[in-house]
Amino acid sequence: MKPTVVIGGGIVGLFTAYFLQQQGEEVIVVDKGDMKENCSTGNAGMIVPSHIVPLASPGMIAKGISWMFSSKSPFYIQPRLDKRLIDWCLQFYRHSNAKHVAQSIPYLKGISLYSKQLYMDFVATHGNEAIKLQDRGLLMLYKTREGEKEEAELAHLARESGLNAEILSKDDIRKLEPNQEVDVRGGVYFPDDAHLSPKDLYRILKNHLKEHGVQLKSNVGITGVEKAGSKITAVITSQGKIDCSHVMVCAGSWSGEIAKMLGFRLPMMGGKGYSFELTNTPELKQASILTEARVSQSPYGDKVRFGGTMEISNRIDMINMRRVQGIFESIKAYYPEFQADFPSQDKIWKGMRPCSPDGLPYIGKAPGWENVAFGAGHSMMGVSLAPATGKLLADLKTGKIGTLKTDAFAVGRYAGKL
Ligand SMILES: Cc1cc2nc3c(=O)[nH]c(=O)nc-3n(C[C@H](O)[C@H](O)[C@H](O)COP(=O)(O)OP(=O)(O)OC[C@H]3O[C@@H](n4cnc5c(N)ncnc54)[C@H](O)[C@@H]3O)c2cc1C
Repeated sequence: MKPTVVIGGGIVGLFTAYFLQQQGEEVIVVDKGDMKENCSTGNAGMIVPSHIVPLASPGMIAKGISWMFSSKSPFYIQPRLDKRLIDWCLQFYRHSNAKHVAQSIPYLKGISLYSKQLYMDFVATHGNEAIKLQDRGLLMLYKTREGEKEEAELAHLARESGLNAEILSKDDIRKLEPNQEVDVRGGVYFPDDAHLSPKDLYRILKNHLKEHGVQLKSNVGITGVEKAGSKITAVITSQGKIDCSHVMVCAGSWSGEIAKMLGFRLPMMGGKGYSFELTNTPELKQASILTEARVSQSPYGDKVRFGGTMEISNRIDMINMRRVQGIFESIKAYYPEFQADFPSQDKIWKGMRPCSPDGLPYIGKAPGWENVAFGAGHSMMGVSLAPATGKLLADLKTGKIGTLKTDAFAVGRYAGKL
């Protein structure tokens, strides 16, 4: 039997390989990068069943436009005459409405809760020492009346959908964050969210896969395919040909290029973000999002990671230190007593979130192909949704039909639209 080739060794590709291997499959993961650093290694590591509203939602367009005029703002689209970008923006605009949000909620909730359960199973099997999963919820902090209104509405939506959400006063927040002042009006607490160490998870998964016979081929890019009818029989790589029985495309922000290679349209843009780690003094204890600044704060004992910004850009190599400054300034705005020195450029991590224009991932069979599936486009939730995506793809391969509704994630939903 020929192997299944997984294109892309980010967190989605690794979890896909993990579940395929568990089913007894022979698996080869190929990645054009070094598999040491990618979008899956330096992110905030939050597992967020609370995130049931897709990025494309009412209010995002107006907010996005106002943010475009500040060099430190959390959102930016690099203006350029690029057909793909214009197309993507048009689709984003079309989906930024209440109907799309209402339709998306049951899908995002279903896959998120499933993924959280798979993480808990993963911890039960492999132990928690390495990945440091902290099942302590997520706090959405706000400073302004407008922020309060927005977050209270989201809490209400979450409760209506059967999720737990608590609106907290400043005093309540003091109990969760006892070591320092938190300068906010209040917050919403989602007790069922969690966070983990993404770089440790990534390392543990790679080691596990290698120990179980999965080949991980780094610095090997896919340049083409060989086919027979509607089946791929081999992938052509920068280092030769690999015969295969199935192909799983988990190539993050670059998945649109693979779709193009296969003859269909899959709109995708990279949403660049930055993070940095600081010494955690005085110690922050509660994973939080500083909502007006769109900055994440993930504590890991003596270290804490701050992350943010979404630059729709095709340049992964550049670091915009003005935006990093924006993230840094928000720390003191929310935690005035936190002791922080501005990190030097070499301490800044950057990653490209794979963003679909409707804020929903692409999971399932590729249109027109019998033995090809995609798992990509998870935007701000790739870590959160990776186990469920991997399991769904592995089940697809064996023909196992689950109960989770996934039709909103159809890979071919833009294939014919221009
Ligand atoms: C600042 C920041 C904070 C974030 N915080 C969170 C969070 O708290 N929770 C959460 O769930 N998500 C978070 N995310 C998002 C998350 O990091 C991504 O959604 C996730 O890492 C995407 O994983 P992936 O496997 O799809 O893509 P990637 O990690 O980008 O992996 C794709 C891989 O495919 C490879 N590839 C591409 N093209 C080819 C080719 N032709 N041939 C071979 N290989 C190829 C690439 O080299 C890459 O290694 C955050 C992101 C950022 C930037």
